[in-house]
Amino acid sequence: MMRLDLSAQWYWEQDDSLRFVKVEAYDRRQCPIGDTLVGKQWRQIPAANQGEADWRHHFELLSGHEPFFNFEIEVTEAPGQSIWLSLSGVPVHDASGNFNGYRGVGKEITSQKENQATIASLALIDQLTGLSNRRHLLDRLNFARLGGARHQGFGALIFVDIDNFKSFNEAVGHAVADILLVEVAARLTACMRDCDTVARMGGDVFVVLATDMGTSTEYASQKTQRIVSKIVAALGAPFTPAMDIALTVSPQAPRFTASMGICLFQGTETSVEDLMKRSEMALRQAKQTGRQGIRYFDPLVEAQVKQRSRMETELHVALSGDQLRLYYQPIVDLQKKIIGYEALVRWQHPSLGLVAPGTFIAIAEQSGLIVPMGEWIIKQACDQLVHFQSNATTRQLTIAVNLSAHQLAQPDIADVISRIIRSSGAPPQQLKLEITESMLLTDIDKTIEKLDALSALGIRFSLDDFGTGYSSLSYLKKLPLSQLKVDQSFVKGLLTEPVDAAIVKTIIQLAKSLGMSVIAEGVELEGQRKVLSDMGCREFQGYLFGKPAPFQDQGL
Ligand code: C2E
Ligand code: MG
Ligand code: MG
Repeated sequence: MMRLDLSAQWYWEQDDSLRFVKVEAYDRRQCPIGDTLVGKQWRQIPAANQGEADWRHHFELLSGHEPFFNFEIEVTEAPGQSIWLSLSGVPVHDASGNFNGYRGVGKEITSQKENQATIASLALIDQLTGLSNRRHLLDRLNFARLGGARHQGFGALIFVDIDNFKSFNEAVGHAVADILLVEVAARLTACMRDCDTVARMGGDVFVVLATDMGTSTEYASQKTQRIVSKIVAALGAPFTPAMDIALTVSPQAPRFTASMGICLFQGTETSVEDLMKRSEMALRQAKQTGRQGIRYFDPLVEAQVKQRSRMETELHVALSGDQLRLYYQPIVDLQKKIIGYEALVRWQHPSLGLVAPGTFIAIAEQSGLIVPMGEWIIKQACDQLVHFQSNATTRQLTIAVNLSAHQLAQPDIADVISRIIRSSGAPPQQLKLEITESMLLTDIDKTIEKLDALSALGIRFSLDDFGTGYSSLSYLKKLPLSQLKVDQSFVKGLLTEPVDAAIVKTIIQLAKSLGMSVIAEGVELEGQRKVLSDMGCREFQGYLFGKPAPFQDQGL
């Protein structure tokens, strides 16, 4: 290996006027232009790749008698025929220190250079379709921004996503699905001008970048609309024979449609990254509307998305930085005596003040942060229950804690909760967990298993917001539920809407016949409490008895 490497190199010497005086190769074939170099000065080498400034830089090194390494030159022998050389050299001095020239080694690197060029083109091209890839698109987009800035021109960035591609891919397999992608690529390319860019981002997402769309918003929008219609028509056209053959493999040869997310831009106002995000965001919205959705980027939606992601970051800080508070709202019996509390989380935000769970629970759910947050909440509630145990007047009090869907979906949720109970020493029969009907929609058998495990410990379950979901009544008897919680929307209409009154009455009767207790939430008026108790409800919660508050404010 070593010898080969050495033999690939050749040796050279230059005199003090930087003229090649000697070129020696182990094998002459290693240095096909050695003879041409001898007698030539550096400046006379026809190096196609080195411009004026490059040479100046190189000569500065040489006049300082500095060594140089891997100086690459492209020597053109005949038009279209060039050889790449890489030269390294060190200055030579005589015994008294006078500069005598340079000597060094050279190497031909033509094939290496050719490989690099291929790699560079591969790096910019999507291998399946031959379209630009993401990297190339980003380059082109940046270029389009800069170009647009010069003459105030608009551009359009259009994300195109094939509807239901995932299920098609699963049905027919990758090989056939790939044929579709190649076909889509060809159709998109045919829709666009040569100066536009069509790229594939991977999967079934394509991006079209159109530039030179005029200088007025109106004109740019019209033009974009025309491109969009063209794309819709192109993708909806009958299949080519190749596609037809491929699709006979699939029993349900579908017709293809696409959804599009569009963002117009003018000059360098918006960064490449943000333009991509904007089109992606518009595409996501377009997909929500079902097939063939077309959406333009909407700054209002962007503001919401940004606000959400800011809040998500801040929620991490909230959890680790002690900004969460557990508030407790009293639950009373027929005599209005407090029999327990519902724990309701709050966020003491450094600048926004006290934030209600409606603003952040959903974000915590989506980010998965609800899992550690939920554990913290249960732990707090358990510590409070332990505290209650120390006093005879509070020993019987229960605490209800809301579980979120994501929390209940955790495979180890039963273990986690029983561990918290064990380590805190809280009496499990005083803990109530509130779940909602929507949580029962997925994986009901697993859910039943988890609830059974927890109820075996003595924990009770209440079905929150009852009446607003779609739970099947047959589930109700399979689940270890001890209570139905009438949703506050029905309590609200109790005195004025006969339908609400009828629903509440039915829920109370249903609970009775299933052997469960009933609690009504959102009770604000004495009249509501009276009607509820007449109907047979025995537990109440609402502003009439107390708002959620920290325990120190409730004298406990
Ligand atoms: P929820 O579990 O149904 O809680 C009842 C909500 O009604 C609470 O709102 C409570 O403050 C409010 N409320 C109570 N009495 C009245 C009343 O008389 N009138 C009116 N208008 N409202 C009343 P909050 O605290 O804003 O909580 C909203 C929802 O956020 C809760 O609904 C629950 O689904 C969720 N949540 C609250 N805390 C937690 C928690 O610790 N974990 C989880 N996963 N979710 C929580
Ligand atoms: Mg609740
Ligand atoms: Mg509720």
